[in-house]
Amino acid sequence: MIHKGLSLASKCQCCLHTENIHHVLILASVAVRTWVYFDDLFKLNCFNYHLSLKAFLNCWLVNIKGHIRNVIPCLILWFLWLERNNSIFNGVKMGHLNVIQKVKDKVAALLAVKLISVKDFKNYLFVFKTLGGSMDPSISLVRTFKWNKPPHNFYKLNIDVSINDNVTGFGGVIRDSNGYFVAGFAGPLNNVDY
Ligand SMILES: [Zn+2]
Repeated sequence: MIHKGLSLASKCQCCLHTENIHHVLILASVAVRTWVYFDDLFKLNCFNYHLSLKAFLNCWLVNIKGHIRNVIPCLILWFLWLERNNSIFNGVKMGHLNVIQKVKDKVAALLAVKLISVKDFKNYLFVFKTLGGSMDPSISLVRTFKWNKPPHNFYKLNIDVSINDNVTGFGGVIRDSNGYFVAGFAGPLNNVDY
């Protein structure tokens, strides 16, 4: 009879240790090297293979929904598990560099589809670039336009609309032919379909 799942009697794919969850996810050399890499990257200094998985996760997790410190340990556990399965079923040698790269690639993919954003790196902006953030978060996007004065005795009206998450607004400025401010207005736009 074949049982699916993790057989406790089998040997670890990275060493000859008897395989169990704690070994695969924490103690195995591939796991240790992966955790130590991210522990260093985040300057957490909490990796200790004597810790239980639960105690170890408590060190990583923060009480901020979607924060990168919650995302990373989930990805590490997931890719360690996939690496172990890939080794068992496809005969591919386990390697911590594979796991580290897959975690980074996944973070980059999550950023690309905006499931996470730079906001989720609160207090950890220093890891943003290493983990696939392409934009330097300290540089905000600024566009500059040249404004030309209207002809003598004419006025110029400039209007703009801004869309920021769920908030939409509009505004306008009227200037005279010397470029002096004459009037301005701004307000929210509600119930806009776009
Ligand atoms: Zn092992």
